[in-house]
Formats: sequence, C-alpha cells, structure tokens
Amino acid sequence: MRTLLKNGTVVSESDCVKADVLIEDGIIKEVSSSIDAPDAELNDVGGKLLLPGAIDAHTHMDLDVGFTRACDDFYSGTVAAACGGTTTIIDHMAFAPKGAYPWHQVKEYHSLSDGNAVIDYSFHGVLQEKADQRTFSEIREIAENEGITSFKLYLTYDMMLHDKDVFAVLNEAKRSNILITVHCENDGIINYLRDRCGVENNLTAAFHPKSRPAEAEAEAVNRMLYMAECADEAPLYIVHLSSEAGLKEVLAARKRGQKHFGVETCPQYLVLDDSLYDDPREGLKAIMSPPLRKDSDRTALWDALKNDVLDTVATDHCPFTFENQKQRGKDDFRLCPNGAPGVEERLPLLFSEGYVKGRITLPQCVKYLCVNPAKIFGLYPKKGVIKPGSDADIVIIDPEKKRTIRSASLHGNADYSCYEGMEIKGVIDTVFLRGEVIVKDNDFLGKKGNGRYLKRGISSLCL
Ligand SMILES: [Zn+2]
Repeated sequence: MRTLLKNGTVVSESDCVKADVLIEDGIIKEVSSSIDAPDAELNDVGGKLLLPGAIDAHTHMDLDVGFTRACDDFYSGTVAAACGGTTTIIDHMAFAPKGAYPWHQVKEYHSLSDGNAVIDYSFHGVLQEKADQRTFSEIREIAENEGITSFKLYLTYDMMLHDKDVFAVLNEAKRSNILITVHCENDGIINYLRDRCGVENNLTAAFHPKSRPAEAEAEAVNRMLYMAECADEAPLYIVHLSSEAGLKEVLAARKRGQKHFGVETCPQYLVLDDSLYDDPREGLKAIMSPPLRKDSDRTALWDALKNDVLDTVATDHCPFTFENQKQRGKDDFRLCPNGAPGVEERLPLLFSEGYVKGRITLPQCVKYLCVNPAKIFGLYPKKGVIKPGSDADIVIIDPEKKRTIRSASLHGNADYSCYEGMEIKGVIDTVFLRGEVIVKDNDFLGKKGNGRYLKRGISSLCL
C-alpha cells in the first residue's frame, strides 16, 4: 500500500523543508520536493507540519506500586500516547518483588504489554537492592536477547542501590555497552524531612515539595555524574531533571568535558510550578517525584533546552485517579501515590509553550521529542526521523489551529489533567504508525495489540 503526503513541511532536527512524502508498506520510501505517484492514496497536507512520530522514553504503564496500580495499562496508556502524537514508548519497569533478578520483570512486562499496546514499545530494565554477578550476567543476556540496552536504578526508595553497588553497575555498564538511567534524589535528606513532617504534623500537599528540596536532586546528580566519570565515563542518562540546582551540576560536568551522559526533563517541570500544592485537595493531583519547583527553575530549564544543554523531553507518565487513588494522601501526603498523567499532553505542550511562544525552535522540538530519544535509546534511524528507510511514523500538525486542554477529551484513564484549561496553539491532525492512520481529529482509529515490541541497539551515549 502506498500513501502520498503532498505539500506539507517536513521538520527535522536541523530544518523545516517543504516536501512530499511517499510511504510504502509502512516505510518511508521517498522525501523530495515533488513526487508523482498516481497509484498512491493522495493526502494533501498543504499548510501543515510533518513531524516524526514522537518517542516517550519515560512512561510507567500499569505500574504496580504495591497498594495500587497506575490507572493506565498498556492499552489505555498507549491510546493516550498515540492521540498525543507519540508512536513509541520506552516504559520504565516497576520494582520486582524483593529478591528477584532482572529477567523477572522482563517476563512480567511482556505479559502486561504484548497484545495490548497500540504503538511500538520497549522497556528499560530495572536494577534493585543489590548488584552481584548474577545481576550482571542477566543484564548482558537481556541486552543481547531482548534488545533492552538500558537499565534504571534509583538513589532513593526502598529498593534503591547504595553507592558501592551503583559504582559496580556503572563499571559493568561501561564494559557491556549498557546505558544506566537514574532517578537522582538524595535518600537521606528526603527520609529525614519526611519523618520530620510526620513529627510536626505537616502533612498537607504543600509539604511534599518541602520534603524533596532541589538540593536533594542536585547532590544526587552531582554524585552520579562523578561516579560515572570515575568508572571511565560509563554511559549515564539522568531522568526527569526538575531544578536549576540540578541543572548547574549538569553544566559543571559538561564544562569538565564529560560527554557520555544525557539528561531528560519533562513538561511538568517546564510548564507548572509548586503553587499547585497550595490547595490541599487539588495539590494531590501534582504529587510526583521530584516535585514541581519554582518559576525560576522553569525558566532555567527552558533556557537549557534553548541552549542545547539537555537532551530529551519525556513525561514520567504515571497516572492515578484523583477521585479515588490520589485521595489516599488526603490526610498525609506521604501516603499519596506519586505520579501524574501527561503522555498525551507532551507534544502539544512543547509545541505550544516551547515553539509557539518562542522559547525553542521547531527543529529543537523534534530533537527533544524524536531524534535524541531515538539515538540515545538505540532506535535511530528506524524511529525519530522522516527519511527513506525509516518507519512511517508521522504526526501531522495544523500549526494555526487552537485547542483547550480538557481532561474530558483526553484518552487516558485518569480523571484529570494537570494542564486543565490551558490553551494550546498547534493541533494534531493525523498520526501515522508504520504507514497506518491511528489517530484522526482526536479520534483513535488504531487497534489493540498492533504495537510492536522493539529490540533496541546500543545507545549513542556509549559511542
Ligand atoms: Zn519515572
């Protein structure tokens, strides 16, 4: 089957070019100034922008947090992603039961996602509690057989790794070309402050950001960067950077000449701030880790995107229902499940708040949402770019159209959006996954189970 997209503007990480795009059997066949293909289905996209299908390298579909699960599974969550212009996710696995080794969650995650996902998908493995020889032999095997070439570790939470194990992991990662992704917050600071909140009866949502200060992030970012440097520059990827203090540590490492690391931020840290916690009830909606920060942090992160200091924008999509699940924290924020929805809002937010408002360029949007995640997570050039030979994952955007974000017209299972009422300029018209229309005018047209599992290659950060 052939489809011809005529008269659109194709956006890459370097420019915006008027071009026709010919799709054949799910693959991009040709991109050039004028294509004639009488047998192809013709789609005039004059006046519209063509972006590569976006990649969200940080989601938590069906996440098991012990007392409940994230309210989007791999079906509803990927439907929402698709409607937001995302055609690939790389999901972060939940912690396995205590004592489990890495293969455990690989099997578990296939059983959660296979046959359910509507867009293409992969996973980051998870490292927990300890790092011994069996852990290392399993992660090498998983990278080889499953194409899971990135593993996540945490510097906080019960299943965190302590520094000696973190350093052992980094050394192993360097040897085996595996990318280590890391949640950076100082566990000691957080636990002390959370305990003190309990003692002093400071338990409303407003104390959530106070118990996880920016310095706790900055310290952990600094420590991880130095540990990676000390492990002969082991490849490292810092997830969800939220603060200016953390950013300063990133800049310091770049200045030292450290190269083999990437840094992600998320729309919530660019668009929202900690005033959302002022209302004790509404504040529960934004309980996530790290927490929302100050206006000055937002400005610093936008500047970092503008100056190419950061590498990707992902979501950390981890939704819980407000009316039910989030209410667990109504008398004590520490009991509230951490996380918020966002997989559907990401591309429209970066387009509207970033490009339309002049904070970043359109090619930068494509770099942060498509090209860099594809390169860093071993999917390039199959994904992340519109050029011959790549998968025909394409998002068509009407740049002049406006829309107001309403939870009721989003597709995930959460009953709220942190961006409710925000006006967006630039509306998604059509989304193609491997040449098939899966979204048109905010209607999902794809099929359950049509997402394909992606075996990934080596990260560009290992090279
Ligand atoms: Zn996360």
